[in-house]
Amino acid sequence: HFNFCAGPAALPTPVLERARDEMLDYQGRGLSVMEMSHRSAAYMAIAEKAEADLRDLLAVPANYRVLFTQGGATQQFAAVPYNLLGPGGRANVINTGIWSKKAIAEARHLFGDVHVAASSEAGGHLAVPRPEEVVLSNDAAYLHFTANETIGGLAFDYIPGSEEGGPRRPDGSEAPLVCDMSSSILSGPLDVSQFGVIYAGAQKNIGPAGLVVVIVRDDLLDRARTDMPSLFGYQALADAGSMINTPATYSWYLAGLVFEWLKDEVGGLAAMETINARKAARLYGAIDASDFYSNPIAIPNRSRMNVPFVLNDSRLDKTFLAEAEAAGLLNLQGHRSVGGMRASLYNAVPEAAVEALVDFMADFENRRG
Ligand code: PLP
Repeated sequence: HFNFCAGPAALPTPVLERARDEMLDYQGRGLSVMEMSHRSAAYMAIAEKAEADLRDLLAVPANYRVLFTQGGATQQFAAVPYNLLGPGGRANVINTGIWSKKAIAEARHLFGDVHVAASSEAGGHLAVPRPEEVVLSNDAAYLHFTANETIGGLAFDYIPGSEEGGPRRPDGSEAPLVCDMSSSILSGPLDVSQFGVIYAGAQKNIGPAGLVVVIVRDDLLDRARTDMPSLFGYQALADAGSMINTPATYSWYLAGLVFEWLKDEVGGLAAMETINARKAARLYGAIDASDFYSNPIAIPNRSRMNVPFVLNDSRLDKTFLAEAEAAGLLNLQGHRSVGGMRASLYNAVPEAAVEALVDFMADFENRRG
């Protein structure tokens, strides 16, 4: 079976096998990682190794803190403004689809006004706004964008900013860049130094749900509101080594196994990116070569992680999904809000899965087209 689920997504098979082998008795200690105190030396070693490996994979500069927190990426829609707005600041957000809109809605709900710095909504979110269309407000506390819209299958092909580097307000001052990387982090190398805050829910490329990774630049830790839930605070989380309370210990451990797999078996993020590019090219190539399937996204903005496509005759959708499932190709239905199909090709999805899908699609077209 191959699992194309958008989230919680497939985990690498070698990671699951290792977790199974260690589940009841972690390294001869007579107990499971699930049963360990998060303060124990054995668990602290697991947690620290995971952070070190993630820093290594992403080449995280020393002036960034890496936090392992909870509440889903959705909690970060609130935590980001709580931590970064400061007095008189306004959230600036680029709208490229459903997840950006949720980030906008949460900032609005909590703090009122949000400046939409650019939007692809008028064009149906088929291409991201061009760099010159992104216009900040003078009171921008930060600029937030969604690197990869998981439902729309729309990805940025550039990092919003200016010629000098970070995004600039009209008065010329620089605003920190905040990125929701939930569905694209670890899919390839990244220049962390271009960002103020990166956050990602774990359940796509990192590990199981229940964990969120936040990477935040040191100089942004001092502007949080005092009237926020203490678990939201980046400074407090950093001071406590992400252990203000009991962290998502088992998810953190499994994330560590995924980081080890990426380093030791895949060979790092450049190698991962090459594989991901091949997988996406194979599937988009098959879609584009047929009159039976289609994907409407502008080619430079096509997501490598989530490939939505439709059958040009939507009456065949149910049959397609049922036959795909019978052939061992799981979770190809599009998000309930948009319908159609979606194949998520996260890191753990092997190239053989894409081959099997492309073969199935060709066969289905031959029989039903
Ligand atoms: N942002 C993006 C880009 C997502 O894909 C998702 C979930 O799929 C979320 C945010 C919300 O994540 P969570 O369910 O962890 O709150």
